[in-house]
Amino acid sequence: WKHAPAHFRALLEMSRYHGEKVFLSYEDEHITFEEHFRRAATLARRLVEDYGVAKGDRVVVAMRNYPEWVVAFSAALAAGAVAVPLNAWWTEPELAYGVADSGAKVLIADGERAARLASTGVPLIVTRGEPPAGARSLGEVLGEVRADVALPEVELRPEDPATIFYTSGTTGRPKGALGSHRNVGQSPMTVAYGLLRAVALAGRDVAEAAGVRRVTLLAVPLFHVTGCFSALTTTMFTGGGLVLMYKWDAEQALKLIEREKVTTMIGVPTNAWQLMSHPDFGRYDLSSLTTLGYGGAPAPPKLLERVNENLPNRAPSNGYGMTETTALAIGNGGPDYNARPDSIGLPSAVVDVRVVDPAGKELPAGEVGELCVRGPNVILGYWNRPEETAQTFVDGWLHTGDLARIDEDGFVYIVDRAKDMVIRGGENVYCAEVEAALFEHPAVDDAAVIGVPHDELGEEVGAVVRLAPGSSLTAGELREFLTGRIAPFKIPAHVWFREGELPRNPGGKILKTRLRQEILGS
Ligand code: ATP
Ligand code: MG
Repeated sequence: WKHAPAHFRALLEMSRYHGEKVFLSYEDEHITFEEHFRRAATLARRLVEDYGVAKGDRVVVAMRNYPEWVVAFSAALAAGAVAVPLNAWWTEPELAYGVADSGAKVLIADGERAARLASTGVPLIVTRGEPPAGARSLGEVLGEVRADVALPEVELRPEDPATIFYTSGTTGRPKGALGSHRNVGQSPMTVAYGLLRAVALAGRDVAEAAGVRRVTLLAVPLFHVTGCFSALTTTMFTGGGLVLMYKWDAEQALKLIEREKVTTMIGVPTNAWQLMSHPDFGRYDLSSLTTLGYGGAPAPPKLLERVNENLPNRAPSNGYGMTETTALAIGNGGPDYNARPDSIGLPSAVVDVRVVDPAGKELPAGEVGELCVRGPNVILGYWNRPEETAQTFVDGWLHTGDLARIDEDGFVYIVDRAKDMVIRGGENVYCAEVEAALFEHPAVDDAAVIGVPHDELGEEVGAVVRLAPGSSLTAGELREFLTGRIAPFKIPAHVWFREGELPRNPGGKILKTRLRQEILGS
């Protein structure tokens, strides 16, 4: 086992010391650490022996949040391959892009994804549902799963590539983020630090919190870093349990928290918001819940207010991270979060941050510039994109593309994505600030701010607003509400009320490019 990657050593330890404990839950299936370990180790051997997977070869994982996602991911890493989780929402051409871009040698998919992947001609292993012609089922590939299965022998170093996660594609085509075994191995430390810190700062004993077995409900997909690293690897390293859902559903989440005695829910801010807005919220027993972690997209201060009201003493935390930072890099929790609800908090213990001007010069406290991050969680670079890698990773610093300021005490505030910012007559308007002000209105359920082309000013501020069920509001009333809260030039000149959900990607981010197209046709 000395060759096993850190990720697998942890799994081995868990299966040795509490192999009979439930690791993964999905609907009525409960899979123990030992069962999972055996299946993953067996699949790793089959990948090497039957499919000729060699160190560094790419293995695609394309599934919904099924337990087999974790088997395929673990197996790919143990085989010395690079695991490439693809977005399960992607269509046939999008999946074909992921397969071609990564140059995958083998694909592991559920039935629905398999049907969309068959045309790529790459060898396919199907985990659930009927395999298309020429593909094999996982059961057939695994054959007999023996208790004494040995891992394939591959020499792996911490800096060797382990994963390619695709970025969300919010600002352009998704980019393959190449992560190392070190990135994977450090993820539980970074995340556990953030979560335990939130618990400890909330006044509870860390030992007491750790003494309770952590059962994490995962509200987001495993194919993004929040799911894989903030939830999965952390659970795996600490012997906790992970509860999976086919897709996010607030009512289902309430049921699962009660039934599986969930202690932590991890997701995006929208998940927490929708959980508390559910009409039957009060009918469920949520007393097992001790922490509520969200991040990956802006969390309006109003969200914290609602959590404190509806789920008191739950140690909520807001985490900032990117695909390029292997999930969490900066986090806010405990009294810090209550004192600064608009901040993403302090960098993780192993992470350095700074804010720079366009020339790359570090800016003093309080000034807005591009946020840069350095640490063991920062990936190796982009897969197959030397130019973007050179632009984004400079002298060991990752340039995030996010505009931020850092206060005197080191707390970080995200003001906007550089690409989203509205420039109105030379004045910068940060969408996130206007959105947070809109959320303050009790009738506002969701909001997005976009730039609207204007002949004289270049851009005007526009807001798309979804009202809470049963409430009514006019654009005039909303503008009046904002007066005094934000500067006059930031108050949206255009307000569109919208009935349905705002378009979001699986990472919980509003798709502003799509929204702009829908509303402005450009
Ligand atoms: P692409 O890079 O393909 O355009 P993306 O940046 O949306 O897509 P991700 O890596 O999933 O892909 O998202 C990282 C981004 O999410 C960050 O750069 C930041 O803009 C945003 N973000 C993450 N966490 C937070 C947070 N807690 N608060 C505000 N914004 C956040
Ligand atoms: Mg990005």
